[in-house]
Amino acid sequence: MEQSRDSIQDIWGPRTGYTGHWPVRVDEQTTETPDHWVQSACVLCSNGCGMDIGVKDGRIVGVRGRAVDRINHGRLGPKGLNGWVANHSPDRLTKPQIRRNGKLEDATWEEAMELIVSKSKQIIKEHTSGAIGFYTSGQLFLEEYYALAIVGKAGLGTPHMDGNTRLCTATAAAALKVSFGTDGQPGSYTDLDTTEAVLLVGHNMASQQTVLWARILDRLAGPNPPA
Ligand code: SF4
Repeated sequence: MEQSRDSIQDIWGPRTGYTGHWPVRVDEQTTETPDHWVQSACVLCSNGCGMDIGVKDGRIVGVRGRAVDRINHGRLGPKGLNGWVANHSPDRLTKPQIRRNGKLEDATWEEAMELIVSKSKQIIKEHTSGAIGFYTSGQLFLEEYYALAIVGKAGLGTPHMDGNTRLCTATAAAALKVSFGTDGQPGSYTDLDTTEAVLLVGHNMASQQTVLWARILDRLAGPNPPA
Protein backbone atom coordinates (compact mmCIF):
# COMPACT_ATOMS: atom_id res chain seq x y z
CA MET A 1 0.00 0.00 0.00
CA GLU A 2 1.46 3.36 -1.06
CA GLN A 3 0.26 6.23 1.10
CA SER A 4 1.11 9.89 1.42
CA ARG A 5 0.46 9.69 5.18
CA ASP A 6 -0.64 7.16 7.79
CA SER A 7 -4.10 8.42 8.74
CA ILE A 8 -4.66 5.61 11.25
CA GLN A 9 -1.65 6.66 13.34
CA ASP A 10 -2.15 10.39 12.73
CA ILE A 11 -5.85 11.08 12.14
CA TRP A 12 -5.65 14.76 11.09
CA GLY A 13 -2.21 14.67 9.44
CA PRO A 14 0.64 17.23 9.63
CA ARG A 15 -0.25 20.87 10.26
CA THR A 16 -0.47 23.17 7.27
CA GLY A 17 -1.13 26.47 9.03
CA TYR A 18 -3.13 29.18 7.32
CA THR A 19 -1.20 31.59 5.14
CA GLY A 20 -4.08 33.93 4.31
CA HIS A 21 -5.91 30.87 2.98
CA TRP A 22 -6.09 27.16 3.76
CA PRO A 23 -3.09 25.53 2.01
CA VAL A 24 -3.59 22.50 -0.22
CA ARG A 25 -2.42 19.10 1.07
CA VAL A 26 -3.27 16.15 -1.16
CA ASP A 27 -3.71 12.90 0.79
CA GLU A 28 -3.44 9.74 -1.30
CA GLN A 29 -3.50 5.99 -0.84
CA THR A 30 -3.10 3.36 -3.59
CA THR A 31 -2.40 -0.35 -3.94
CA GLU A 32 -1.36 -0.04 -7.61
CA THR A 33 -0.71 2.77 -10.05
CA PRO A 34 -4.12 3.75 -11.52
CA ASP A 35 -4.75 3.84 -15.29
CA HIS A 36 -6.89 6.91 -14.72
CA TRP A 37 -8.64 8.90 -12.01
CA VAL A 38 -12.41 9.46 -11.79
CA GLN A 39 -13.87 12.51 -10.03
CA SER A 40 -16.08 11.60 -7.07
CA ALA A 41 -16.69 12.46 -3.42
CA CYS A 42 -16.29 10.66 -0.12
CA VAL A 43 -19.71 9.99 1.38
CA LEU A 44 -18.61 8.31 4.61
CA CYS A 45 -19.57 11.38 6.65
CA SER A 46 -21.55 14.54 5.99
CA ASN A 47 -18.42 16.59 5.28
CA GLY A 48 -18.42 15.42 1.65
CA CYS A 49 -14.73 15.73 0.78
CA GLY A 50 -13.89 15.90 -2.94
CA MET A 51 -12.14 12.67 -3.93
CA ASP A 52 -10.66 11.14 -7.07
CA ILE A 53 -10.97 7.38 -7.39
CA GLY A 54 -8.00 5.63 -9.00
CA VAL A 55 -9.05 2.91 -11.45
CA LYS A 56 -7.06 0.08 -13.02
CA ASP A 57 -8.64 -2.62 -15.20
CA GLY A 58 -12.09 -1.45 -14.09
CA ARG A 59 -11.38 -1.79 -10.36
CA ILE A 60 -10.62 0.67 -7.56
CA VAL A 61 -6.93 0.71 -6.74
CA GLY A 62 -6.74 3.95 -4.79
CA VAL A 63 -8.10 7.32 -3.75
CA ARG A 64 -6.77 10.85 -3.47
CA GLY A 65 -8.24 14.10 -2.20
CA ARG A 66 -9.11 16.73 -4.82
CA ALA A 67 -6.81 19.73 -4.45
CA VAL A 68 -9.35 22.08 -6.10
CA ASP A 69 -12.26 21.07 -3.89
CA ARG A 70 -13.40 23.88 -1.58
CA ILE A 71 -14.43 21.45 1.16
CA ASN A 72 -11.15 19.64 1.78
CA HIS A 73 -8.41 21.29 -0.35
CA GLY A 74 -7.01 17.81 -1.07
CA ARG A 75 -7.27 16.27 2.37
CA LEU A 76 -8.92 12.98 3.25
CA GLY A 77 -9.45 11.44 6.67
CA PRO A 78 -8.93 7.83 7.77
CA LYS A 79 -12.37 6.70 6.56
CA GLY A 80 -11.98 8.25 3.12
CA LEU A 81 -8.44 6.97 2.71
CA ASN A 82 -9.15 3.41 3.89
CA GLY A 83 -12.86 2.64 3.47
CA TRP A 84 -12.60 1.61 -0.21
CA VAL A 85 -10.17 -1.24 0.58
CA ALA A 86 -13.18 -3.33 1.71
CA ASN A 87 -14.33 -3.42 -1.94
CA HIS A 88 -11.74 -6.11 -2.62
CA SER A 89 -12.26 -8.08 0.60
CA PRO A 90 -12.29 -11.81 -0.29
CA ASP A 91 -15.18 -12.53 2.10
CA ARG A 92 -17.40 -9.89 0.52
CA LEU A 93 -20.84 -11.17 -0.53
CA THR A 94 -20.89 -11.27 -4.34
CA LYS A 95 -23.84 -13.60 -4.93
CA PRO A 96 -27.43 -13.48 -3.67
CA GLN A 97 -28.42 -15.80 -0.88
CA ILE A 98 -31.88 -17.10 0.01
CA ARG A 99 -32.81 -18.36 3.47
CA ARG A 100 -34.27 -21.85 3.14
CA ASN A 101 -35.29 -23.83 6.25
CA GLY A 102 -33.52 -21.25 8.40
CA LYS A 103 -30.23 -21.54 6.50
CA LEU A 104 -28.76 -19.09 3.99
CA GLU A 105 -27.95 -20.76 0.67
CA ASP A 106 -26.35 -19.40 -2.49
CA ALA A 107 -28.86 -18.59 -5.23
CA THR A 108 -28.78 -17.21 -8.78
CA TRP A 109 -29.75 -13.61 -9.49
CA GLU A 110 -32.82 -14.91 -11.37
CA GLU A 111 -33.96 -16.92 -8.33
CA ALA A 112 -33.43 -13.94 -6.02
CA MET A 113 -35.29 -11.51 -8.28
CA GLU A 114 -38.16 -13.94 -8.79
CA LEU A 115 -38.50 -14.33 -5.03
CA ILE A 116 -38.54 -10.54 -4.45
CA VAL A 117 -41.11 -10.03 -7.22
CA SER A 118 -43.43 -12.83 -6.08
CA LYS A 119 -43.29 -11.75 -2.40
CA SER A 120 -43.90 -8.10 -3.35
CA LYS A 121 -46.88 -9.04 -5.54
CA GLN A 122 -48.31 -11.19 -2.76
CA ILE A 123 -48.02 -8.35 -0.20
CA ILE A 124 -49.62 -5.83 -2.58
CA LYS A 125 -52.47 -8.25 -3.36
CA GLU A 126 -53.19 -8.92 0.29
CA HIS A 127 -52.52 -5.50 1.82
CA THR A 128 -52.09 -2.90 -1.05
CA SER A 129 -48.85 -1.07 -2.01
CA GLY A 130 -49.05 0.85 1.25
CA ALA A 131 -47.80 -2.28 3.02
CA ILE A 132 -44.40 -1.92 1.37
CA GLY A 133 -41.87 0.55 2.72
CA PHE A 134 -38.28 1.51 1.94
CA TYR A 135 -35.73 2.56 4.51
CA THR A 136 -32.80 4.08 2.69
CA SER A 137 -29.62 6.01 3.19
CA GLY A 138 -28.78 9.69 3.02
CA GLN A 139 -25.48 8.73 1.39
CA LEU A 140 -26.66 7.78 -2.10
CA PHE A 141 -25.82 9.73 -5.25
CA LEU A 142 -28.45 11.44 -7.39
CA GLU A 143 -28.66 8.61 -9.94
CA GLU A 144 -29.22 6.06 -7.17
CA TYR A 145 -32.04 8.11 -5.58
CA TYR A 146 -33.59 8.39 -9.02
CA ALA A 147 -33.44 4.59 -9.56
CA LEU A 148 -34.86 4.05 -6.07
CA ALA A 149 -37.79 6.41 -6.72
CA ILE A 150 -38.53 4.62 -10.01
CA VAL A 151 -38.65 1.24 -8.24
CA GLY A 152 -40.50 2.37 -5.09
CA LYS A 153 -42.87 5.11 -6.21
CA ALA A 154 -43.40 4.56 -9.94
CA GLY A 155 -43.03 0.77 -9.86
CA LEU A 156 -44.44 -0.50 -6.58
CA GLY A 157 -46.55 2.59 -5.95
CA THR A 158 -45.73 3.12 -2.29
CA PRO A 159 -45.45 6.57 -0.69
CA HIS A 160 -43.53 5.07 2.23
CA MET A 161 -39.91 5.91 1.47
CA ASP A 162 -37.94 7.06 4.45
CA GLY A 163 -34.34 7.11 5.49
CA ASN A 164 -31.77 8.31 7.94
CA THR A 165 -32.57 11.77 6.59
CA ARG A 166 -35.57 11.86 8.93
CA LEU A 167 -33.80 10.55 12.02
CA CYS A 168 -30.69 12.66 11.50
CA THR A 169 -31.06 15.61 9.14
CA ALA A 170 -34.68 16.46 10.00
CA THR A 171 -33.81 17.02 13.65
CA ALA A 172 -31.01 19.39 12.59
CA ALA A 173 -33.39 21.17 10.20
CA ALA A 174 -36.00 21.61 12.95
CA ALA A 175 -33.37 23.03 15.31
CA LEU A 176 -32.08 25.40 12.60
CA LYS A 177 -35.62 26.66 11.96
CA VAL A 178 -36.16 27.43 15.64
CA SER A 179 -32.71 29.06 15.96
CA PHE A 180 -32.33 30.92 12.66
CA GLY A 181 -35.77 30.86 10.98
CA THR A 182 -34.62 28.67 8.09
CA ASP A 183 -33.80 25.00 7.68
CA GLY A 184 -30.72 25.78 5.59
CA GLN A 185 -27.39 26.23 7.32
CA PRO A 186 -26.71 29.96 7.72
CA GLY A 187 -22.94 29.50 7.45
CA SER A 188 -20.38 27.86 5.21
CA TYR A 189 -17.20 25.90 5.88
CA THR A 190 -15.36 28.80 4.24
CA ASP A 191 -16.43 30.95 7.22
CA LEU A 192 -13.91 28.97 9.24
CA ASP A 193 -11.18 30.74 7.23
CA THR A 194 -12.00 34.08 8.86
CA THR A 195 -14.06 33.46 12.00
CA GLU A 196 -12.79 34.94 15.27
CA ALA A 197 -14.30 32.21 17.46
CA VAL A 198 -15.36 28.59 17.14
CA LEU A 199 -17.98 27.14 19.48
CA LEU A 200 -18.88 23.47 19.18
CA VAL A 201 -22.01 22.23 20.94
CA GLY A 202 -22.92 18.53 21.02
CA HIS A 203 -20.63 17.70 18.13
CA ASN A 204 -17.33 15.83 18.34
CA MET A 205 -15.91 17.20 15.09
CA ALA A 206 -12.41 15.89 15.84
CA SER A 207 -13.82 12.37 15.76
CA GLN A 208 -16.69 12.63 13.27
CA GLN A 209 -15.57 15.13 10.60
CA THR A 210 -11.84 14.78 10.76
CA VAL A 211 -11.02 16.91 7.72
CA LEU A 212 -13.10 19.82 9.03
CA TRP A 213 -11.29 19.51 12.35
CA ALA A 214 -7.94 19.62 10.49
CA ARG A 215 -9.13 22.94 9.03
CA ILE A 216 -9.67 24.32 12.52
CA LEU A 217 -6.30 22.97 13.73
CA ASP A 218 -4.69 24.72 10.73
CA ARG A 219 -6.43 28.00 11.66
CA LEU A 220 -5.04 27.59 15.18
CA ALA A 221 -1.56 27.01 13.68
CA GLY A 222 -1.73 30.18 11.55
CA PRO A 223 -1.86 33.92 12.29
CA ASN A 224 -4.88 35.35 14.18
CA PRO A 225 -6.08 31.99 15.52
CA PRO A 226 -9.76 31.96 16.57
CA ALA A 227 -10.77 31.66 20.19
S1 SF4 B 1 -14.04 13.90 6.68
FE1 SF4 B 1 -13.36 11.77 6.22
S2 SF4 B 1 -15.25 10.51 6.18
FE2 SF4 B 1 -15.85 12.69 6.05
S3 SF4 B 1 -16.09 13.08 3.84
FE3 SF4 B 1 -13.97 13.70 4.43
S4 SF4 B 1 -12.67 11.87 4.08
FE4 SF4 B 1 -14.84 11.18 4.07
